Amino acid sequence: MKYRHILGTVKSRRLGRSLGVNLIPGKICSLDCIYCEAGRTQILTAERQAYFPAEEVTEELRCYLKENPNVDFITYSGMGEPTLHSKLGEISCYIKEEFGQYKLALITNGTLFYREDVRRDAMFADLVMPSLDAVSNLVFNKVNKPESSLNNEKIIDGLCEFKREYKGQMWLEFFVVPGINDSVSELKLMKEAIVKINPDRLQLNSLDRPSPGNNVVIADRNYLEKLKDYFSDTGILTEVISRIPQKNGVIEEEILKLLGNKDVAIEEIKNKFNACEDIISGLTLAGKIEMTEKDGVSFYRLK
Ligand code: SF4
Repeated sequence: MKYRHILGTVKSRRLGRSLGVNLIPGKICSLDCIYCEAGRTQILTAERQAYFPAEEVTEELRCYLKENPNVDFITYSGMGEPTLHSKLGEISCYIKEEFGQYKLALITNGTLFYREDVRRDAMFADLVMPSLDAVSNLVFNKVNKPESSLNNEKIIDGLCEFKREYKGQMWLEFFVVPGINDSVSELKLMKEAIVKINPDRLQLNSLDRPSPGNNVVIADRNYLEKLKDYFSDTGILTEVISRIPQKNGVIEEEILKLLGNKDVAIEEIKNKFNACEDIISGLTLAGKIEMTEKDGVSFYRLK
C-alpha cells in the first residue's frame, strides 16, 4: 500500500517508538513561527477543514500496524497543525477503539484550544503536547506570526480550560529563541501563564542546528539549564529537551548532586538527563557511584 498519511515509525526521545500520522496536506498552519524547521507556512489559517475523509487515515493505520505492530505511540505530527483537521475527533475515536493497545499523542501549537470542538477532539489523546512561546501579543507576533484572528489571551484561556477538563498528560513546550522571547518581563509573564495552565511537564526546547533562511539564535545548553532552574519554583516538572549537548562534566556534577545521600532509580536519572548512559558508566568506572538492585530495579548511589 502507498501511504499518504502514515509517516512511519521513528525512535523518539520523548515517546519511544512513535508512529507519525500526518493529518494536514502541506505546510498549513495557524502560525508561521520564525524557527519552524518545515519552512514558511504556505497557508496561514485558523479555519478547520476536513482535508480528507477519516477513512483514508484509518485504512492506512490498519494496514501499517498489521505489518508493523511494534509501536509505543501513534502521534499526530507532520508539517502542518493537526487540530486544523475537522475530523481529528472522529479519527482519534477510531484509533482508540480499534488500536487501544497504543497510546495516542497530539503534538499541537495549542492555538485553537479556545474552541470547544478542538478541546473535545483533543480529549481522545493520552498525551497532548501543546507549545507556548510567548505571552505578550507583541512577542507572540514576533516569534509565532499568528493568523490575524488569534490572540494569546484567548489561547492561554483555552489551554487552561482544556487542562481543567482533561484526564491525560499535558506536556507544554516552550521554544526559546534568545533575544526574542526571553526578556526578563516576558519570562515573568511566561512563568505566570505556566502556573495558570498547570501542565504536567514543562519542556524547554530550542533550535539544535542553524536553520537556513532565518537568523534564529541557538540557545546554549547551559542557558536552557538556567532557565529550567528559573521555572523550578512553579512546582511543575521542567526538563530541557533540546538536542544541544551539555558538556559531560556538567552532567556528571548534576548526577552526583541528584544522588546526594539517596538511591536513585536508573530510569529517573535517564529521564532527567537524556542519553546519559555513557556518563553513568564513566562515573561507575571512576568509583564515584555504584549500582544496587532492589526488586529487579537498578538504583545508583554515591560510593
Ligand atoms: S506551529 Fe509548528 S508547524 Fe506551525 S509554524 Fe510553528 S513550528 Fe511550524
